[in-house]
Amino acid sequence: MSYEPMDLSEKVALVTGGNSGIGLGMAHALAESGASVCIWGTNPDKNESALTQLKATGANVAAMICDVSDEAAVEASFAETVKTFGKVDGVYANAGVSGGGIPFIEISTEEWRRVLSVNLDGVFWTFREAAKHMVERGEGGRLIGTSSLSAIHGAPRSEPYASTKGAMIAMVRGLSVELARYGITANTIIPGWIETPMTERSFGNERFEAAVLKRVPERRWGTGADFGGLAVYLMSDSSAYHTGDQFVIDGGYSRF
Ligand code: NAP
Repeated sequence: MSYEPMDLSEKVALVTGGNSGIGLGMAHALAESGASVCIWGTNPDKNESALTQLKATGANVAAMICDVSDEAAVEASFAETVKTFGKVDGVYANAGVSGGGIPFIEISTEEWRRVLSVNLDGVFWTFREAAKHMVERGEGGRLIGTSSLSAIHGAPRSEPYASTKGAMIAMVRGLSVELARYGITANTIIPGWIETPMTERSFGNERFEAAVLKRVPERRWGTGADFGGLAVYLMSDSSAYHTGDQFVIDGGYSRF
């Protein structure tokens, strides 16, 4: 018998960037826990392959093409998600792009805007559509953003990326206060070094691996699956009183 407040069988979750890495790890755990899950991404092949994996859990799942840096696309895809599943209980604004590793003085305005449009505009539009729906529905909800340690640590050659991740924490803190009266919680997840397609350049670099892994007390890189348990908790009724928080999942890296 499982703890009833953790039962997700009546819940509908949306995971942006759910076709890969951390998002797929969260989507998979949500589906395994009985939630209906919709994932958004821009790449049809990645969506298809993730959908096949998610369907194997037996859950009700769908994948949609949505570029979160396009306001109209976010509005249309959110409406389509609600139409498909009847409602959305929780949203993981997880889609993101990394910066280009460019020295600060060489960062172009186009590069700055490219990163902000996905990682910050996209989060704003996703959460705004979700909050509208949740407030109108009047049954509460969950807003969860995937931030980054770059919001807290100094991250060289990643200032556009770090700016979006810091801004997300500030946005979510505001939402946690403003939306509490509607039973909507808002939290951020702060991953450490996680082995995903986004970080594959770093993980292929021997000097990086030698320098960083010895600073991770767990002595391994994180995986998408490491985010499953937290995703389920945040979606569930057991987290109803937990809001405005930041959850660091980094194998102890930031404590060492
Ligand atoms: P990933 O495997 O590359 O996942 C990124 C996801 O975002 C993909 O599903 C991608 O799908 C989607 N995406 C990118 N641009 C998009 C757009 N314009 N519209 C919609 N979806 C878009 O990398 P990840 O590491 O799991 O990253 C997930 C989140 O974790 C990101 O927000 C990232 O900043 C954050 N994070 C990662 C780490 C780490 O070490 N890996 C650390 C801290 C924070 P498509 O390719 O189909 O668009």
